[in-house]
Amino acid sequence: MRKTENQLLVIFGASGDLTARKLVPALYKLYKDKHLPEHFAVLGVARSFMTDEEFRKRVALESKYLDDSEEFIAAFSEKLFYEDLHKKYDVDYRELNERIQDLNTTYQCDNNIIFYLSTPPSLFEAIAKNLTAKGLNDERLGWKRLIVEKPFGYSLETAKSLNEGLHRYFKESQIYRIDHYLGKETVQNILVTRFANSIFEPLWNRDYIHHVEITNAESGGVESRGGYYDKSGALRDMFQSHLLQLVALIVMEPPLSANPEEIRNEKMKALKSLRLMTDPKVLEKNTIRGQYLASEIEGEKVKGYREEVDVDPDSTTETYAAVKFYVDNWRWADVPFYVRTAKRMPTKVTEVVIHFKSPHHQIFKNSDMNKDNKLIIRIQPDEGILVKFGVKVPGQGFAVERGNLDFYYESLGDESHIMEAYERLLLDAMQGDATLYARADEVEAAWRFTDPILDHWKKGDAKIYGYSAGVWGPQHADELIEGKSMWRNPCENLADDAGYCVIE
Ligand code: NDP
Repeated sequence: MRKTENQLLVIFGASGDLTARKLVPALYKLYKDKHLPEHFAVLGVARSFMTDEEFRKRVALESKYLDDSEEFIAAFSEKLFYEDLHKKYDVDYRELNERIQDLNTTYQCDNNIIFYLSTPPSLFEAIAKNLTAKGLNDERLGWKRLIVEKPFGYSLETAKSLNEGLHRYFKESQIYRIDHYLGKETVQNILVTRFANSIFEPLWNRDYIHHVEITNAESGGVESRGGYYDKSGALRDMFQSHLLQLVALIVMEPPLSANPEEIRNEKMKALKSLRLMTDPKVLEKNTIRGQYLASEIEGEKVKGYREEVDVDPDSTTETYAAVKFYVDNWRWADVPFYVRTAKRMPTKVTEVVIHFKSPHHQIFKNSDMNKDNKLIIRIQPDEGILVKFGVKVPGQGFAVERGNLDFYYESLGDESHIMEAYERLLLDAMQGDATLYARADEVEAAWRFTDPILDHWKKGDAKIYGYSAGVWGPQHADELIEGKSMWRNPCENLADDAGYCVIE
């Protein structure tokens, strides 16, 4: 177990939603579970004026996200401070530096500082520059780390320029790009499933795997994020970041060790091995985009995407994206990968499905493709793993059905507390463990793969299909999948079979 050294956490954008809803609650959990170092303080920074007391009230004392006795929360809130930047982030940080030095001395933070940039990304470089002007990137007396929030760019070009901007002031080893998906226990468990189990690893290749399917489905629409989402879309919002990170964990070769750099090197190689699609015909055949239309779900009227607040009424932004692609390396040659992400689906679920090939020689003739062995890794909501395998139907003959072997994280009980993603990731950064943070080259490799799809869709001759809110996407979605297979339209409960599930 790594040690958590004394430190100061400085959060830029501390007046925002993320600080109140995720960051402070995660720090509070760490405090409750005694993971914070002996000497620790948090300094919130933003343009808005607030006193320390007002900040504490807003994010802790009156927060609906913290639960415990008032005294306990009050004791935690004493670690929180606030400094305003007057009007903007791009100013001389003299006053801010004085406050940081003062807190560092008073609370014995040993000159170790994390700067968490929870602001729009357009401000990242200016903040890094102004910190550097005050020597706050200098690690001679104590380490300095920079955590940056997604989105990491809007395209390959903007991601490169964001990375270059940060690299002018901070070394890559000081930069932690947070992707909260990687903080989920089941996502990390992909590595353990693959590399700590001799029953899976020998099968993890083109000889035994027929295809790989990843579904990320949201039952909600864009809600209050219409303005942001309309400029982003499903591919940028989910696919380029979270879902390609999942793909990298499925595709990567075994790392030499569990060392962060070894793991990230292999993830990087995996992302580089995704076959780029640039030919418009290939892109048209292998990608599907859609947008949800108004419909009625369980008697309730649901708005179409174009009627949502802050969405352009003529918008062609996709709320459904499905991509078929191949991985050009020895392990995965000719194995299709199908990845989809969408809003207004029948249920909220994220899962990876490894579809195994049929046995080479079929003795029991009644089995079909849909009944092949599957390994399902459920990322959310009921985190767990399910193996579907053939069992004999009782009675005469050899009729085969699929039985389930399942494991749920919640079955481990209360004593094995599953950390929330932000809690886990913050603690990792506090301990200098970058395993679950995206490196600059990984982010750029993911954009290199995604850019041509976005360019193709932008040209306008690529079709955009409508689908009724509450169904599994456009009708054509199944055509993407080769042969007799279809998407596994998953249920809310991991072990339910499609067709028999209760959807929200
Ligand atoms: P907010 O929009 O609430 O912004 C955070 C703070 O940044 C605001 O309180 C504001 O503080 C300052 N700010 C916002 N816009 C501007 C601007 N144009 N110019 C200068 N300052 C500005 O964001 P969130 O807290 O929701 O998120 C922070 C970051 O995290 C964003 O980059 C977002 O993309 C990312 N993110 C957020 C998630 C979420 O669930 N909220 C999830 C994943 C990523 P003030 O005016 O006081 O300076």
